[in-house]
Amino acid sequence: MLVAKKPLTSYATLRGQQKAKKIVSRMYHSGRLSHAYLFRGPDGVGKRLCANLFAAHLNCENPAADGGCGECSSCRKYLSGNHPDITVIGPENGTIKIDRIRELCRSLTYPPYESAIRVVVLEDIHTMRLEAANSLLKTLEEPPENNVLILTAEVSRDILPTIISRCQIVPFYGLSIEETTEVLAAHLAEMDGGEAAMLAKLSDGSPGKALFLKQKNLVDTWCRVRRILEVDEEEADASIGSLLAAAEEIALLKDDLAALLGLMRIWACDSAVRATTARQRNEQLARLAALDRAERSLARNCNRTLVCEVLLFNLQSPFPRVSS
Ligand SMILES: [Zn+2]
Repeated sequence: MLVAKKPLTSYATLRGQQKAKKIVSRMYHSGRLSHAYLFRGPDGVGKRLCANLFAAHLNCENPAADGGCGECSSCRKYLSGNHPDITVIGPENGTIKIDRIRELCRSLTYPPYESAIRVVVLEDIHTMRLEAANSLLKTLEEPPENNVLILTAEVSRDILPTIISRCQIVPFYGLSIEETTEVLAAHLAEMDGGEAAMLAKLSDGSPGKALFLKQKNLVDTWCRVRRILEVDEEEADASIGSLLAAAEEIALLKDDLAALLGLMRIWACDSAVRATTARQRNEQLARLAALDRAERSLARNCNRTLVCEVLLFNLQSPFPRVSS
């Protein structure tokens, strides 16, 4: 039987997030829209996509039960990224500037260009400084008619309580490992299953974060380092040169080093689970302790190359080698 393909404007294009999709869809069908929403959850789990799908649904000329039709003039403009009444504003150089907020508040006083409702998506509002956040408050409380504001924010970051209290909250959550792997496979056809599963696990159910790791080649780096760490005991001495070179290389990763240490932690945890003898298990526990020590040293701004060298030695030989 032929199954009709869902348009890209359907909520079905967003993986997981059943609760958020249910809330958004209920709001749409009840006809009682709030003037401001706050989509709150981890980074990279679909908040932006959901905000955009909701915006497309609100403006669709032949709306379906699960989103925009994908074919009307409004949906086509949305899909081409040129909808005059759907605006997305995000951080520039790490923050949403106050000038951008002032400009937005001014522009909302004019009616929408061609739609019944203008939708403004303000991304990552946790990056706004206090001054910018305060300048948004009045508009958030009483936005001019025919405007809907959708704010997104990372769940663990602080937001002014006065912003939260003016919005209807829509919660987002991390995806399951299976769901994350599926999203990755859909985005990166060339990725093999093992790499996708490793990224899914490391990213804690955030496909956005997993794609970031992939983009930074951190998995490739980790696979090379792992080959050095997993040499046989008798080859360990001969691998010292490559181990020191690897330590120097990963010390240069700066902020991305934390993500690499996360991959090492998964490796040690997985090996501990698979261990069949007490010695093997203790080896992995010693590796986890070495990772803890390295993280603490890095947080104290110790010499990064030195910390990485000691770490790789301890991961390769978790117990001191007995010299003959
Ligand atoms: Zn449509």
